[in-house]
Amino acid sequence: DSDTMDLKRVIRNIPDFPKPGILFYDISTLLADAPAWKETVRRLANRVRAYQPDLLVGIESRGFLSAAPLAVELGLGFAMIRKRGKLPGTTIGHDYALEYGEDRVEIQADAVKHGQRVVLLDDLLATGGTAAAGITLLRSVGAEVVSAAFIIELAFLRGRERLDVAVDSIITYD
Ligand code: 5GP
Repeated sequence: DSDTMDLKRVIRNIPDFPKPGILFYDISTLLADAPAWKETVRRLANRVRAYQPDLLVGIESRGFLSAAPLAVELGLGFAMIRKRGKLPGTTIGHDYALEYGEDRVEIQADAVKHGQRVVLLDDLLATGGTAAAGITLLRSVGAEVVSAAFIIELAFLRGRERLDVAVDSIITYD
C-alpha cells in the first residue's frame, strides 16, 4: 500500500561525506527505485498542490530532480536557481554567507512574473541556509514564496526555524 511505503528504507546513509564526521543522506538509491521514487513524487505533489502555486522553482542541483516531475504532475512551469555563472542571459543574484566563505545563487531575470505564487524545492533541508538564500532571491524578483518543500528534513538542525514560509517534508530524521 503506497501510503505506508517506508521511503527511509531506500535512502542510503554514507558516513564521512563530504567531510569526516558528516553523515550524508544519499537519494541516488531512492531515485533508482521506481516505485519508491513514484511514491515520493506523489507525496510531494499532494503537499505542494495545497498551496496553489503558479510556478515551481528548484535549487541546483538535486532540487531539479523533484521540481521537474512535480511540475508535470501539477501542470505548472518550472524555473531553476543555480550557482554563480551557470545561467545565460540577464540574471539576478543573491550573495549569502556559508560557514566558511560565501556563495551566490542566481535566477534568470524573467523567470518569475511579479506576484506569482512560487513553491521552492530542494532535496534536503539541513541548516536552512540554502533555502533561505533561495527565498531571498525569489522575493527580490517579485515572487510570493508560498512554501518550501523537501524530500528529507534533518529536523535536529532546526532549518525550518530559519525559513519564514510554510515548510513541508516527507521524510524526517529527528
Ligand atoms: P542547508 O543549506 O540546509 O544546510 O543544506 C541543504 C543543502 O545541502 C541542500 O541543497 C542539499 O542538497 C545539500 N545537502 C546537505 N546535506 C545533505 C545530505 O545529507 N544529503 C543530500 N542529498 N543533500 C545534502
